[in-house]
Amino acid sequence: MRVAIAGGGLAGLSCAKYLVDAGHTPVVLESQDVLGGLVAAWRDQDGDWYETGLHIFFGAYPNMLQLLKELGIEDRLQWKEHSLIMNQPENPGVYSRFDFPDIPAPINGMVAILGNNDMLTWEEKIKFGLGLLPAMVRGQSYVEDMDQYTWTEWLRKQNIPERVNEEVFIAMAKALNFIGPDEISATILLTALNRFLQERYGSKMAFLDGAPPERLCQPLMEYITERGGEVYVRKPLKQIRLNDDGTVREFLIRGLDGAPDEVVTADVYVSAMSVDVLKVLLPEPWKPLDYFSKLDGLEGVPVINLHLWFDRKLTDIDQLLFSRSPLLSVYADMSNTCREYANPDRSMLELIFAPAKDWIDKPDAEIVAATMTELNKLFPNHFTGDQPAKLLKSKVVKTPRSVYTATPGRQACRPSQVSPIANFFLAGSYTMQKYLGSMEGAVLSGKLAAQAISHETTGGETDLQIEKLPATAR
Ligand SMILES: Cc1cc2nc3c(=O)[nH]c(=O)nc-3n(C[C@H](O)[C@H](O)[C@H](O)COP(=O)(O)OP(=O)(O)OC[C@H]3O[C@@H](n4cnc5c(N)ncnc54)[C@H](O)[C@@H]3O)c2cc1C
Repeated sequence: MRVAIAGGGLAGLSCAKYLVDAGHTPVVLESQDVLGGLVAAWRDQDGDWYETGLHIFFGAYPNMLQLLKELGIEDRLQWKEHSLIMNQPENPGVYSRFDFPDIPAPINGMVAILGNNDMLTWEEKIKFGLGLLPAMVRGQSYVEDMDQYTWTEWLRKQNIPERVNEEVFIAMAKALNFIGPDEISATILLTALNRFLQERYGSKMAFLDGAPPERLCQPLMEYITERGGEVYVRKPLKQIRLNDDGTVREFLIRGLDGAPDEVVTADVYVSAMSVDVLKVLLPEPWKPLDYFSKLDGLEGVPVINLHLWFDRKLTDIDQLLFSRSPLLSVYADMSNTCREYANPDRSMLELIFAPAKDWIDKPDAEIVAATMTELNKLFPNHFTGDQPAKLLKSKVVKTPRSVYTATPGRQACRPSQVSPIANFFLAGSYTMQKYLGSMEGAVLSGKLAAQAISHETTGGETDLQIEKLPATAR
């Protein structure tokens, strides 16, 4: 079966990969000149990479890890020691660590939390542990129910001291969805905590050994095309055209640089575009359907990714760092963490600037200046004295609408991969799957869409090794 997929991010590519595995012929149509979507990256005039986002892979990403294995590229992940490392803004240059010993979960997590005495008092740790009990005992159904609360509201409900938020969860909320704990749904943090505390290597982190378009998307593309699929860039979907019965007749692709528009026909059609773009392209007759009108409740969150190249090393830490700064979220010295960006003499910090809603429209120079002021506080020893560290160059990448904003109530708006239109399916990390708006979520959504296409359209079973489909939102 020929399947046209609009969107060449991880969800679209994963969908195509699992479709070729099931014997179908996918045609991926990506609007940009590079594959990857939110993991896209480019080279500057010096040949240095800059990326849409600093990306971390977790031990708790079974579908991503399986995909890398199936592509034969699992060695491209550079696993780091099993620790969470946080700056102590009140104690510049000093880090606080949660070190997970290599023993079964949840004991390793308990040892990591109990072993950290810089951030939380014993009383705070005990109250937090007690507050978490319902999530641990009642599992995912409790976690889903908590989508009615923000994380801060949930902490208060569970009598967990406010300071726990300030010390740990502002940083965690910003890392997971680029917003603060007063905005983020409790479901998001509880889901992450459940994975991190219940899986031995759940919170163990890895960096890709180079830029995602080359090191991850390229092998995916080769896998698909070697098996008869097609992958195109610079093919923006302009219109979803319908038959009289409301099913899809064809995709109209916008011609670029004066070329005429082009029609793509297939047996089945998939949107693997972001929810914000899909909402704009929805055909009028589909809009009143509950499945599609619920998408109005989903919207991408703004985020900024910064790259700062320095004339010397600022740190030798080979791991993700939680800045705990009001302007910044997580960051890493990519000259230590990523093989292709390695430099023994100079640091390249990649930093996530979040929440970004008040900054996304500001000039790059202002964003870089504000970031440098924060770095002065975090690394005062490098920026004072006779020879302060010099910023050689910078690159700011703004994404006004990235992953869906995970505020309370959003779970009910997330659609299943199976739409009410017989020949139209959805993939994307915003669609319903249990891994939130993440690379893992994108890969799983693509896999679920491929499974649904095989199942719904042929009525047959697939031999894809994947989880059961979530209840459809038809
Ligand atoms: C700054 C940042 C940091 C992140 N950090 C992490 C992390 O550490 N770990 C993690 O797991 N996840 C992280 N994420 C989230 C992760 O990148 C996303 O969840 C995932 O990549 C989304 O993939 P997707 O395929 O669902 O969507 P997208 O990547 O948005 O893909 C949609 C694709 O559709 C294309 N498209 C749009 N319009 C059209 C059109 N008209 N026609 C054809 N194609 C179109 C787009 O160009 C894009 O390629 C981060 C995201 C950002 C922005």
